[in-house]
Amino acid sequence: MSANHYDLIIIGSGAGGGTLALKLAPSGKKILILERGGFLPREKQNWDTTEVFVKNRYVSKDIWYDNNQKPFQPGSHYFVGGATKMYGAALFRLRQEDFTAHRTADGLTPDWPVRYDELEPYYTQAEKLYNVHGQRGDDPTDPPASAPYPFPPVSHEPRIQELADNLKRAGYHPSFAPTGILLNEANAPHSQCIRCDTCDGFPCLVHAKSDAEVIAVWPALQYPNVTLLTNAHVQKLETGANGKEITNVIIERDGQREEFFGDLVVVSCGAANSARLLLMSANDKHPRGLANGSDQVGRNYMFHNAIALVALSKRENKTVFQKTLTVNDFYLRAPDYEFPLGNIQMIGKSQGPMFREDSHGFAPGWSLDQMAKHAVDFWLTGEDLPLPQNRVTLNAKNEIQLHYEFTNQEPINRLRQKLQSMLEHLDLHPHLIPNNVYLGKHIPVAGVGHQSGTCRFGTDPKTSVLDVNCRAHELDNLYIVDTSFFPSIGAVNPSLTAIANALRVGDHLLQRLK
Ligand SMILES: Cc1cc2nc3c(=O)[nH]c(=O)nc-3n(C[C@H](O)[C@H](O)[C@H](O)COP(=O)(O)OP(=O)(O)OC[C@H]3O[C@@H](n4cnc5c(N)ncnc54)[C@H](O)[C@@H]3O)c2cc1C
Ligand code: SF4
Repeated sequence: MSANHYDLIIIGSGAGGGTLALKLAPSGKKILILERGGFLPREKQNWDTTEVFVKNRYVSKDIWYDNNQKPFQPGSHYFVGGATKMYGAALFRLRQEDFTAHRTADGLTPDWPVRYDELEPYYTQAEKLYNVHGQRGDDPTDPPASAPYPFPPVSHEPRIQELADNLKRAGYHPSFAPTGILLNEANAPHSQCIRCDTCDGFPCLVHAKSDAEVIAVWPALQYPNVTLLTNAHVQKLETGANGKEITNVIIERDGQREEFFGDLVVVSCGAANSARLLLMSANDKHPRGLANGSDQVGRNYMFHNAIALVALSKRENKTVFQKTLTVNDFYLRAPDYEFPLGNIQMIGKSQGPMFREDSHGFAPGWSLDQMAKHAVDFWLTGEDLPLPQNRVTLNAKNEIQLHYEFTNQEPINRLRQKLQSMLEHLDLHPHLIPNNVYLGKHIPVAGVGHQSGTCRFGTDPKTSVLDVNCRAHELDNLYIVDTSFFPSIGAVNPSLTAIANALRVGDHLLQRLK
């Protein structure tokens, strides 16, 4: 058999693909991971705010096009470990209610073909694998869990503890944000994580963040049967003459075309790029793109209605690691509103350079550093809805065109008002200002961190791309395990669900590989 033949090829090494590689590694099967990027360099700039947030040192050079064909640079990160290299490691489970069709301000969300109960054991495994710190029971929307968090919650620093206490006194239910970091507060001198202020949105210089490279890809590579090719940009998937299965995977590496063969092929390039790869692989048998007889590939793109907001405290906020608190009191509804509003959480502590473009006119007389010192930083997430017209298509050069119209805006605006009224009583400036640099939100559609949808799973091949095992309805050996499979996005961060689902699909693939 050819040296380029593998039992299984995984394309993309992020939350979905990286996790799947580790899950399957002990099987002894010959596994190839093809990753478009290289290893993210470990260098002092990892923790330099100007380099990371202002100069976009780790943002890919990709150019995508918006509704009006206007080019923009998406906040994509092509590295071993994918977007998790930069993520905030807030590892939430979707809420039980997210799995069933529910009414939102702008209409009904789709039903998932699996219920929370089916994913629950995999959420538990995912939390263990990704070292999630948390505490169950404080958050009234917490779904039932079969095990406690593997690690105690990351403690609040005094300013955030005060905020939590005040919120509790006011009748809210602040809880500890579930966080995937390799922190040992009981033995701080020997903790891998040093609890620093450059975590959310930065790579971790000391490899103490539970990202997919550290937790999954690197451990998978310790198995002799697993191979990783970096800078291996997959260009095309070819099918056999009958069009029923993938036969060849074509990549470009160092300007050269190379070809690989896999009995099973798993695509996990991130929602937009997975759709791109399927569309780019159109052939006679699949003229609209692979697995796209239903014309669903690329559709239903979602990325959350998200706002990063800053409240200015009269006192300095000396918090270092701020992302420890979350509030879900309005996740399902509010006393004065029957529809879900969304999730409130903290984001990483802002730094002066992040305000460079946002500060004008807001706090006259304040320097950027002063603003940052007094800032208490929040992040609000609301559900956006999967619309068929919100989609990824390709132009003649196979570049991504992202058609997106905003949905469900009223709930996120109401959530913002709720936060404002919560904070008015808490020694915080009643005005909230946007922090647009966080998640690259200057061009709204460029904040692609939470991209999902595009190849949703379902039972009906007319309305979905993947079946319940995340196998393409139309191709027997093609699977997708990144966030593409989400039929709806809920209002919490997506990674843990992608990780849990990759573990679930992994169990199915282990049976198939036997
Ligand atoms: C700044 C930031 C903060 C975030 N914070 C959080 C958070 O706190 N909590 C949370 O849950 N989520 C967070 N996210 C989102 C999270 O990182 C993503 O949801 C998650 O990484 C998605 O996993 P994935 O497997 O779908 O894609 P990715 O992790 O992006 O992996 C896709 C991989 O495929 C590779 N690839 C793409 N195209 C090709 C190709 N043609 N050939 C070969 N390889 C290819 C890419 O290089 C990449 O490595 C954040 C994201 C960002 C950007
Ligand atoms: S807080 Fe910990 S995990 Fe995050 S960047 Fe700092 S050392 Fe790394």
